[in-house]
Amino acid sequence: MRSHYCGQLNETLVDQTVTVCGWVHRRRDHGGVIFLDMRDRDGVAQFVVDPDTADAFANADRARNEFVLRITGRVRLRPEGTQNPNMPTGMIEVLAKDVEVLNTAVTPPFQLDEHGKVGEEVRLKHRYIDLRRPDMIDKLRLRSRISHTVRAFLENQGFLDIETPVLTRATPEGARDYLVPSRTHAGNFFALPQSPQLFKQLLMVAGFDRYYQIAKCFRDEDLRADRQPEFTQIDIEASFVEENDIMDITESMIRQLFQEVLDVELAAFPRMTWQEAMDRFGSDKPDLRIPLELTNVDDLMQQVDFKVFSGPANAADGRVAALKVPGGASLSRKEIDEYTKFVGIYGAKGLAWIKVNERAKGLDGLQSPIVKFMENVVEDLLDRVDAKDGDIIFFGADKTRIVNEAIGALRVKLGADLDLYTQDWAPLWVVDFPMFEEDDNGRLSPLHHPFTAPSCSPEALKDDPANALSRAYDMVLNGTELGGGSIRIHDQTMQRTVFDILGIGQAEAQEKFGFLLDALQYGAPPHGGLAFGLDRLVMLMAGAKTIREVIAFPKTQSAACLMTDAPGEVSSEQLKDLNIRLRQKAKADTTAE
Ligand code: ASP
Repeated sequence: MRSHYCGQLNETLVDQTVTVCGWVHRRRDHGGVIFLDMRDRDGVAQFVVDPDTADAFANADRARNEFVLRITGRVRLRPEGTQNPNMPTGMIEVLAKDVEVLNTAVTPPFQLDEHGKVGEEVRLKHRYIDLRRPDMIDKLRLRSRISHTVRAFLENQGFLDIETPVLTRATPEGARDYLVPSRTHAGNFFALPQSPQLFKQLLMVAGFDRYYQIAKCFRDEDLRADRQPEFTQIDIEASFVEENDIMDITESMIRQLFQEVLDVELAAFPRMTWQEAMDRFGSDKPDLRIPLELTNVDDLMQQVDFKVFSGPANAADGRVAALKVPGGASLSRKEIDEYTKFVGIYGAKGLAWIKVNERAKGLDGLQSPIVKFMENVVEDLLDRVDAKDGDIIFFGADKTRIVNEAIGALRVKLGADLDLYTQDWAPLWVVDFPMFEEDDNGRLSPLHHPFTAPSCSPEALKDDPANALSRAYDMVLNGTELGGGSIRIHDQTMQRTVFDILGIGQAEAQEKFGFLLDALQYGAPPHGGLAFGLDRLVMLMAGAKTIREVIAFPKTQSAACLMTDAPGEVSSEQLKDLNIRLRQKAKADTTAE
């Protein structure tokens, strides 16, 4: 139907006849001449319709925004003074000969360039209109380019793209499962995969050696922050590998991706142990663009006569950490109050601080509500954090977990608020994770998933599970976990030991993971892998603020699709087929049952 995309028209086509199909982006009536800005996925170009071409003119006259037109005309240079060098098609226009209305359009719920004036709900409800915006098209185009580059890289490295089932059994990644009732097996349910974890391991047992998949994963989580109930992973697994093999290959992949798609040269990724990341940044996904660090001051605070500090400093599960912010003494009381509220979200009971106005003056040069309680250690403290005039030092004193979360988050917030970033991209690997984390009741749960190999023997693991390290690694970029993986357990005894420690008894293990335990007996090779969150990767590379911006049809924070109105009610016949009776009758369906 067409010879060119609108966005492709430029001065090399002058005097040629072209045909485009697209949407009316804007229509202007200039007393006798009609200007139509026509848009398609490649861009916008200007068409001029003269009353001389009567039919074309009549059609252009009745066209409105978002009408679908097919226009044929001759490309010409725009008259001097009306050229727009900022637009790829801005040097030319097309003098229309034929204008055909392929379809009309009612007034859209928002004008594309006024999308900011409507709420996100309106945009999500009419996502097909929202996706017409050049900005959205660019992001999805970038997403396509990223997946393509990743596929090409992995195919080149001998990875095979293999699909794994979506209707399956629970795959534990720590979230709730989405369940699908089976009609043919009354009372039984499939679970949608939280990741292809077990299938990719079974592919290694089968001998495929190198697998990848751009796979949909489903997790029924309380939608904190920026999550989606269904999201996409670049899922990778390989056999006869150790940590370095997987880390090297995936690091090269990300480096090549940035190079090809963004023309950004990433330096080699530093590696940091989990413990160091927690100590220095209070986070297992530290944002290394921010030059602020937590400093341990437990030993100093053990010596002060101030319970708020000496308590956690002396407690086995406590921590007192200082965060020095260069130049931060200029923060106002009000700003400090805001930060105090902020750390409260993470459970911190307060936010102590010292402003260093003039170090040479000793105590008189300091301003702080707490310094009077720590006069005996203050000089050592200032030395330890290398305090200079004009700095502020914040403190967190509580359970280690709370200090890390609160002061770690404060560090990131200060970095953003004060624009302290030292570089655009700061990738790193975090390694040597603990195998398990302990909840307040002393119950252990896997830090990654229960198929992650520990760094020690089954006996050593049994002896001291709480302190065991795992062979897991996370790739972090700008404070976001881009991907995580591990070397897996390929030995049945080890797998049973881990299940034991997690309180999954033999019978339960057999019921839930019998197929994996069985497979491990049939010659499972050493193997490991990693999965990247594609949505987050695209978000970072696109400079987008949420993953919703880089997903064509995302769901809301409450896990609903405003456009299709999913999830929706189903008929009583469907429920009957599935052997399901609802406990509470759906409000609208009074005829159910
Ligand atoms: N299945 C893991 C996840 O979804 C990734 C991996 O261990 O490869 O986080």
